[in-house]
Amino acid sequence: MRKINISGNWKLNKTASETKALLVELKDAVATAQKTEIVICPTFVSLSVAGEILQGSNIKLGAQNLFWQESGAFTGEISATQLKDVGCEYVIIGHSERRQYFHESDSTVNKRLIAALNAELLPIVCIGETLEQRESEETFSVIESQLEGALAEVPEAAMSQIALAYEPVWAIGTGRTATPEQAEDVHRFIRRKIQSLYSEQISANLIIQYGGSVKPANAFDLLKQPDIDGALVGGASLDADSFAGIVDAAEKIEG
Ligand code: PEP
Repeated sequence: MRKINISGNWKLNKTASETKALLVELKDAVATAQKTEIVICPTFVSLSVAGEILQGSNIKLGAQNLFWQESGAFTGEISATQLKDVGCEYVIIGHSERRQYFHESDSTVNKRLIAALNAELLPIVCIGETLEQRESEETFSVIESQLEGALAEVPEAAMSQIALAYEPVWAIGTGRTATPEQAEDVHRFIRRKIQSLYSEQISANLIIQYGGSVKPANAFDLLKQPDIDGALVGGASLDADSFAGIVDAAEKIEG
């Protein structure tokens, strides 16, 4: 049975004191949720305070990125051990904004993924096509090569630690959501690809989250698709009521 995962990606938003205030609100707003895995990923500088506030709650802490080296002369970078030390359990890897603005490639995504796995962090690996790629009917080939690149040398035994997030770039922060059918088509494709790379069992247990303008109003229809196991939420995670509305939708999914 796959547990629905609703993760909030706060991107470059909220100071440490604003983080504290929003998390206090959020903890209250989702306190009754029982079935859903809930994760919040604030900025690096707020992780420490967030870790303290979330202790004992049903919200897990995640980071938005990590570097693959453990320590040394890598100015501005953050290691997996440092993330674990402040209470992170999850880490987002390969978000399209990292790929688009910071030149991340499938190969750097892979290095970050291996580092996260070695530190026993739970990676949420993002993949997704641009509008141009979708319009030129390259969606499936792009997804296939992103998967092969990100998962290179990742052993079968590590796959139970990993979640994937399908995030069509054209739907992120644009208010334009993939229809449940469009999203399901790609999620099904991803699951089949994982089956061919690993096994039926790995594929059947893999969490595949959808991301791209998820809101309370569209969450239920997306989450009830058979291959959609959660959401990675940007904008709507910055408001306690909106995020709680998405968690509520997840709690209503049968199974
Ligand atoms: C995201 O940041 O991963 C995202 C999907 O953003 P939004 O929900 O704002 O589209």
